[in-house]
Amino acid sequence: MADLADLERELEKNGINFLRGERLSSRTTMGTGGGADVFALPSSVVELIKTAEITQNQGVKSFVLGGGSNVLAGDGGYRGCVISTRGVNEIYIERESGNEVFVRAFAGAALGTFTAYCIRAGLGGAEFLSGIPGTVGGAAVMNAGCFGRRAGDIISSVFAWNGGRLNAYRAEECSFGYRSSAFQRGAPLVISVLFRLKREPAEDIIKRTATFRALRESKQPAGRSMGSVFRNGETPAGKAIEACGLKGARVGGAYVSEKHANFIINDGSASSADVYDLIKTIKAVVRERTGITLTEEIKYAGEFG
Ligand SMILES: Cc1cc2nc3c(=O)[nH]c(=O)nc-3n(C[C@H](O)[C@H](O)[C@H](O)COP(=O)(O)OP(=O)(O)OC[C@H]3O[C@@H](n4cnc5c(N)ncnc54)[C@H](O)[C@@H]3O)c2cc1C
Repeated sequence: MADLADLERELEKNGINFLRGERLSSRTTMGTGGGADVFALPSSVVELIKTAEITQNQGVKSFVLGGGSNVLAGDGGYRGCVISTRGVNEIYIERESGNEVFVRAFAGAALGTFTAYCIRAGLGGAEFLSGIPGTVGGAAVMNAGCFGRRAGDIISSVFAWNGGRLNAYRAEECSFGYRSSAFQRGAPLVISVLFRLKREPAEDIIKRTATFRALRESKQPAGRSMGSVFRNGETPAGKAIEACGLKGARVGGAYVSEKHANFIINDGSASSADVYDLIKTIKAVVRERTGITLTEEIKYAGEFG
């Protein structure tokens, strides 16, 4: 535990706020997960990079957490330091070129705040991201998307810190693929994203946002979840799960949504172990009955079992 004491001392020395034992259930949309040894709350880019640098120099394991909307955190909590990006959330117009407008948004900005900003500024292109309960950083890392569009389609460049220096990645260097990006490998820390948007009448943007919202509400269940648990293959994961009769399947307080079989819902009493066991069961049943091997889209953090 000496390393954690050193970590805390360094965070204090640099004026970086942190909590001890913060329960990850209160920091993830699934609402499950135990305490993190240290939960760091940097409130500026300098503090965010400094926090990552300190954990690296102290040899303390770390996990970057945005909105926690695609993460299952173990009931045993996290041994090491969880770094929350939420306090680093500025959004501004960086430059304009003809009808194109380049908006800089920092990692911890909520997608809802970002899309609301775009509506106010009359900037079109990001509407599909409204309703996704993550952050700008998480959306870049996961290449979040829906309705045929992905974050990478509107990203011009990304600033990321990769353990030694701050690098600017042009979109073509980000390796954006289906729910994947270069930022999932080697654990670079996404600091900010430059979005390429277009000037448009606000009414058009509002109309498209409403259409996407309605579509989302018609397809996705309410309740505490992580969104889609599994990646889609040739057969959409939800279809495969439904075909195996697993809608409504339950372990403890976690169950497969009747509305969308790729969603696992926490009825309010679930533990991460319930969710994890249900994921294992789904994978085993689907493999046995269809031959399809499902792989998780969600990320695991911390101690399970
Ligand atoms: C109700 C619901 C609906 C959803 N709908 C969609 C959808 O339509 N489309 C879709 O793609 N997803 C959807 N999701 C999943 C999720 O919202 C997205 O994947 C989102 O982009 C995750 O962002 P986040 O900030 O919550 O990331 P987190 O869940 O906090 O983290 C996800 C991963 O990214 C890493 N990470 C986060 N921020 C950074 C950073 N700044 N630097 C480095 N690594 C970082 C984390 O370490 C983790 O590995 C949904 C989730 C829910 C709960």
